[in-house]
Amino acid sequence: MAYQIINPATGKIEQTFEPADNQLIEAALNRSATYYRTQRQVTFQQRAAQLAEIAQIFRDHVAQLASVAATNMGKRYQEGIGEATAAANIAQYYVDHGLTALTARQYTYLDGKKAVLQYEATGTVLAVEPWNFPYTQVMRVFAPNFLLGNPVILKHARIVAGCADLFEQLVWAANVDHGAFQNLFINSEQVATMIADARIQGVALTGSAQAGSAVAAEAGRAMKKSTLELGGNDAFIVLKGADIDQAVLDGATSRLRNAGQVCTSAKRFIVERDVAEAFTTGMIAQFRQRQLGDPLDETTTLAPMASKAMQLNLQHQVDVAVENGAQVLVEGGAVLDRPGNFFKPVLLTNLTPDNPMYDEEFFGPVGQIHVVDNEAAAISLANRSQFGLAGAVYAKTVTAAKRVADQLETGQIFLNQPSNGYPELPFGGVKNSGYGREMSDLALYEFANQKMIALG
Ligand code: NDP
Repeated sequence: MAYQIINPATGKIEQTFEPADNQLIEAALNRSATYYRTQRQVTFQQRAAQLAEIAQIFRDHVAQLASVAATNMGKRYQEGIGEATAAANIAQYYVDHGLTALTARQYTYLDGKKAVLQYEATGTVLAVEPWNFPYTQVMRVFAPNFLLGNPVILKHARIVAGCADLFEQLVWAANVDHGAFQNLFINSEQVATMIADARIQGVALTGSAQAGSAVAAEAGRAMKKSTLELGGNDAFIVLKGADIDQAVLDGATSRLRNAGQVCTSAKRFIVERDVAEAFTTGMIAQFRQRQLGDPLDETTTLAPMASKAMQLNLQHQVDVAVENGAQVLVEGGAVLDRPGNFFKPVLLTNLTPDNPMYDEEFFGPVGQIHVVDNEAAAISLANRSQFGLAGAVYAKTVTAAKRVADQLETGQIFLNQPSNGYPELPFGGVKNSGYGREMSDLALYEFANQKMIALG
């Protein structure tokens, strides 16, 4: 399969990229291995200065980054500006805070003997990334590993080949050796071959559970460290006493941003009966308000989905859910009488756990409302999921929301605010949402040699 850009708003082929052959892969592996060795003589401070330059270059190119994302995967231009800025902010976070996190730790053992734990690079990390946030997802792996001294090779989703190419150009525009970051247009078999290669020391994947399981299996076979950031079916719990207007606004925004294609967006709205009517009325209005259109048009409030396959798959999921008893609160679905991958928002209810679609990830503008009798029922339903990525709890007070958050099986939870990614905060999940953490200080340690030296 080719690396081909098909404009999600028009269905037109915009650009095709040549896939990498084995010779190119070999050259990339050698280049990254050479870079890795040279970095032993380079300090964290020196790389922090280079990373600051990269952050600035991304800041200077937000408009270009946003328009390429719009053409590749249909992101609304304003959302693209937001994502490009966020990518620069992630790099800047490691410039500002990475050195402290990488300071060696002191230990004492036996009768007062001293030891240190220092952080060192381990080698090249292969980043297998998806199309929904084509810049931040790459930066989340690249920036901490760059600071540490690990080269990164990117295998991006084929539909965002233009974003991958631009990311590489912008990193290379800084004063860094090209071995620090390389993009390769490769396929799954080539990914497996690379993971087995001694020059690769770790693999980070964001994407579906299927891709994660395939890549983690290869990593396990080769005894390489892996991190997985997979899908989610996040609960957005609304309890009586919560600010319902705020919950409606945040919930709808969370569910519909990026055309609903966000792993940590609110997917299951679990609402206490006393406030269910007000919340549902508000959500129906919000879902009906969205204006489909070209991602580059400022009046558009809901952009097309990233690919035809995703659009048709989402429609299939809605059909199966409805055939099995789900009720439709807002009618919508795949728009098939115009070019592109447009999908009008759908709001469902009565999607009970016996429905085959109950715990499937709806990766697009489809929401579901579940009404429960009390807090305990909300917690029980929220935990009834194969996934455990993020979530949100809205209650009268943060203390009341925290009591619920403490009982949820999830990697991240936000109180009286929608879930989001912040460079300062650890990002990752439990259960089938994966393992390992991106962003924050924790990302620096995922592919580090945490080397202990006993000083005596
Ligand atoms: P995939 O998981 O298939 O793609 C993500 C990345 O993994 C892409 O670079 C893809 O490459 C690569 N990949 C897929 N299979 C393999 C494999 N066996 N070996 C190596 N690399 C592989 O996502 P899709 O685009 O197919 O989306 C499907 C579903 O995944 C969505 O509906 C959603 O539920 C979930 N998803 C979750 C995301 C998240 O942020 N957690 C992001 C994207 C999707 P290629 O493009 O060449 O197939």
